[in-house]
Amino acid sequence: MKYIFVTGGVVSSLGKGLTAAALGTLLENRGLTVALQKFDPYLNVDPGTMSPYQHGEVYVLDDGAETDLDLGHYERFTNTHLSRANATTSGQVYEQVLKNERDGVYLGKTVQVIPHVTDEIQRRITDLAEKSGADILITEIGGTVGDIEGLPFLEAIREFAHEAGPGNVCFIHVTYVPFIKAAGELKTKPTQQSVAKLREIGIAPHILVARCEQPLGKDVRSKLSMFCNVPFDAVIEEKDVDHTIYEVPLMLQRERMDDLVCRTLQLTLPPANMAHWQDIIRKMIAPQHRVRIGVVGKYIELQDAYKSVYESLKHAGAANDCGVQIEQIEAEQLENDDPTKKLKELGGILVPGGFGDRGIEGKIKAARFAREKGVPYLGLCLGMQIATIEFARNVLGLQGANSTEFDLHTVHPVIHLQETQRHVKRKGGSMRLGSQECLLEPGSLAHRLYGKPSVMERHRHRYEFNNEYREQFEKAGFVISGTTPDDQLVEMIEIPSHPFFIATQSHPEFLSKPNRPHPLFAGFIRAAHERMHHKPI
Ligand code: GLN
Repeated sequence: MKYIFVTGGVVSSLGKGLTAAALGTLLENRGLTVALQKFDPYLNVDPGTMSPYQHGEVYVLDDGAETDLDLGHYERFTNTHLSRANATTSGQVYEQVLKNERDGVYLGKTVQVIPHVTDEIQRRITDLAEKSGADILITEIGGTVGDIEGLPFLEAIREFAHEAGPGNVCFIHVTYVPFIKAAGELKTKPTQQSVAKLREIGIAPHILVARCEQPLGKDVRSKLSMFCNVPFDAVIEEKDVDHTIYEVPLMLQRERMDDLVCRTLQLTLPPANMAHWQDIIRKMIAPQHRVRIGVVGKYIELQDAYKSVYESLKHAGAANDCGVQIEQIEAEQLENDDPTKKLKELGGILVPGGFGDRGIEGKIKAARFAREKGVPYLGLCLGMQIATIEFARNVLGLQGANSTEFDLHTVHPVIHLQETQRHVKRKGGSMRLGSQECLLEPGSLAHRLYGKPSVMERHRHRYEFNNEYREQFEKAGFVISGTTPDDQLVEMIEIPSHPFFIATQSHPEFLSKPNRPHPLFAGFIRAAHERMHHKPI
């Protein structure tokens, strides 16, 4: 087993996760099996209780783990299978250490950050390495070198590398080389200082990845090489990509990053064959057609809040030879005006997941517009609940219909708390989470799109369709096309009289990959194209 540790310097949001994932793509294409793991130094047990303003999207795994969005990159860029074991936070580490202490595991000892916390961190590396059976484990350390809370993780990987011995561990430090306009120069000092900080801890990076907006040039590379003490060819330029993040593996390959990793880890492997990956990118960069999709959400100004949704749209676009122009529409802004202005030019409307009542009425207006004007609609989780409320109010005439999440005393609770949620008091990890089976109605749109009668999709919700209203909805042409195998929970709905109106209680965006677009998204983009260009693809 070989190990790669990815750290970050200078600033956050450098795309360390993307770099780690892209390296994973290259190594897989050189014939290795790769496992990826994220360490997050914050004290929350998981990001499930954090606001998207703090954290961006919460990415859900098959086993129901609520994790960092970088795990989404890992799944989209590689074939790795992720579970709870692939995402560790300081909160989890301390929780385990404190439990051990109470259980008497350390009896007689003073429990300390070194060695008890650092040992628990190392145990999580070793455990995953063994469980995954992969050839190589890439571990990304969240945060920035110099953060107080990151120190135990850095000490743990230093100790780990010491034990593993040379040739078995590769340290990669991702940093930022800013371009100062007034001076017309790229500046290496922040990187030098951040590497110095790492070396103080006892970690000397083998590879330096310089994130930059301008090419580094020979001089800057030499300077980084000399003062960060890495070989000249181990300074990797990672410029902002021109078109799509899926170009990153190709860019890193051009910089020979995978060769360097193989050299450091003493691996002799054939070069990566990236022909298939190049094909996908070609389709993304130069599509034949274009569609405009409106995503109506409440965290629209945040790039990361609907990350997997945006990525899934792009995958589906590539599959249909369509460039997807995403219009990010703030739901609240639809509330007071006629929504026509903002929605009329769209090929399709997507309402993603969400919590809390802000923007709900705007989303209902968007769903109404889509239903009445025949605009393709895709509802995800909350987006299905919204479509249900809209139909209840405007087709069934159930005035004031709502979800009890937004109006506890509504006369028509068409969406209500799941039975199994009624006794739940704790907020963390207590929703209906992870992969769940859904059976599809034969002949329905859902069935035609998926092409099979039973599907597994990931979930993250507390509320559900209220079964007392089923008959009333169905009589009015609202089809329940997917349910749990016991028929108790509505998983998918659709309106067959509409060109494309479908919504799911699940989060299909967590299963889409560039080379395996999700069928619901692919169908949605196809329908959007037909609407915009009046012809099938
Ligand atoms: N807030 C809704 C629920 O809990 C929807 C959740 C979501 O969109 N993830 O059921």
